[in-house]
Amino acid sequence: MVMNFPGAPHPKRTRGSYPGYFTLLTADAPCPLCGNFLRFPQWAERLACPECQSAWIRPVSSNRRLVFRAGRVNFGLGRRWVGPVWRPKYPFQHALFHEPEVRSLTSRHSWLKRIGGRSLWRQQLKLMQRLRCDIFPTRASTAELKRLDLWTICRTNTHWFCTHFAYLYVLFAVAKGWTARILNIGRDNPQDTHGHMVCEVWNDELQKWIVVDPLYAAWFSCRAKPDEPLSYMEIRADWLVHRGRNVRAHFCVEDWRKNIFCSERSIPAVEHNGGERELHPDMYFWGVAYLTNRFLTDAYADRHHLVLMWRDSWNDGRLWLHQNKPVSYHLERRLVTTGHPMDFHPPLNNVAIWIRCSAKAAIVHLKTLTPNFSHFEMKRMGQWRRIPAEFVLPRKKGRFCWQFCSVNQFGGAGKRSVLKGTSFS
Ligand SMILES: [Zn+2]
Repeated sequence: MVMNFPGAPHPKRTRGSYPGYFTLLTADAPCPLCGNFLRFPQWAERLACPECQSAWIRPVSSNRRLVFRAGRVNFGLGRRWVGPVWRPKYPFQHALFHEPEVRSLTSRHSWLKRIGGRSLWRQQLKLMQRLRCDIFPTRASTAELKRLDLWTICRTNTHWFCTHFAYLYVLFAVAKGWTARILNIGRDNPQDTHGHMVCEVWNDELQKWIVVDPLYAAWFSCRAKPDEPLSYMEIRADWLVHRGRNVRAHFCVEDWRKNIFCSERSIPAVEHNGGERELHPDMYFWGVAYLTNRFLTDAYADRHHLVLMWRDSWNDGRLWLHQNKPVSYHLERRLVTTGHPMDFHPPLNNVAIWIRCSAKAAIVHLKTLTPNFSHFEMKRMGQWRRIPAEFVLPRKKGRFCWQFCSVNQFGGAGKRSVLKGTSFS
């Protein structure tokens, strides 16, 4: 089922459009050797670290040919896809693998392993469908949650239905090896202090964060591209610029109205107009991501969550949801605000390829922001093999085409970085 949003009137504000930041790659990152923050001048392909004097090749994607010399060997780099190396300004906390509940989940729910789906996005969608429509068509009772060994996780969410289902989705997504987080959203209306909880899941294939709304088993796309799921900022940007006219809500259920959402006390959790209210793109005016290493088992009220708030010129200087406080909002050190898209939507699971030219050799340093990182792999003779994060470029003459990927502790591999080139004397 598809829902279109008519352009509701929105006061003033006609500022420009959003940049396509997912194609934006940046090399601004700490020096892999000494940690000094490196800022490559625009178009500069090389930079010597002012701190440790290492000579680096800019680690970004390029079609430009680049020739350099190291250890009396000349190397020519051709077309290359090198993962972004942006370092978010907040500590990215996702050591969820160490949650015993997460580790036991895959064994307890065998359907998780064979979830199917042609693409990663289809799999992420199928997870929501299975979870929301098949496994938990209504909010599970305390007894059932205890039987499924999920009570510890859900114990703090007995009232907030959207939060409850958002928790469940994140939990199962993490057990699959994907990175997901809970997003608290709200509209720009002082009279309406009502918030909503959805999830954002990182998609390695599409290289973006995607919003899923597990309570309604819903997701969003652009009207022009119905198969491409949207991120928080894309939904929000369309609301601000086009009043949500281009956004479509898709549902995993035939008709969400027929889907009975009820609590164990049989109180309807969602009013009849709930869908129209909470699925509307204007809900995405405010956005707060809750991050913690233990957000599945930390009590929600304990305020252990790190709060990452999106703030730009549209909501600058205003109070969150008409002076309501998001969890931890009042704890200064737990709140990070950002107006930089790469902070809010950091590219993950990529391999950044740094090349250092020393007098003796060209040395490759692999870097990644993969949550629950395990190791790097390289494709050689058609086989993926584990490799160290630092190694010497072979001096043997000839062409090379290398592919690297990062693998997390669940065995999930990220997008490949490719390096093509030639070595010649
Ligand atoms: Zn350095």
